[in-house]
Amino acid sequence: MKGQLLAVNHCPVCQARFRGAQVCSRCGADLGPLMRLAVKAWQLRHGARQALEAGALERALGLASEAQQVHRTPGGEALRVLIEWLSVRATAPNVTQPNGIPRAP
Ligand SMILES: [Zn+2]
Repeated sequence: MKGQLLAVNHCPVCQARFRGAQVCSRCGADLGPLMRLAVKAWQLRHGARQALEAGALERALGLASEAQQVHRTPGGEALRVLIEWLSVRATAPNVTQPNGIPRAP
């Protein structure tokens, strides 16, 4: 969790990079609301991973998509795409070719 929360972000005011600071060291902008959104998105992705482990693909996809709406990250998008792909496979088991590679939709 700590590594996720301390992910490098950029100040929305001056674009300075920050890491876990409540106030931008360059322009003094309050970064609290931004950090709360990042935490909310982290919690949603955590829930998505748990739902994925439990096999609840629909719930996992919903949580992963919501996380991306709250705070978009490359890792979050990878998780969402993975769950989406698994969902498509789960609902259409016959789209796999004999070599095991899924056919393009
Ligand atoms: Zn700033």
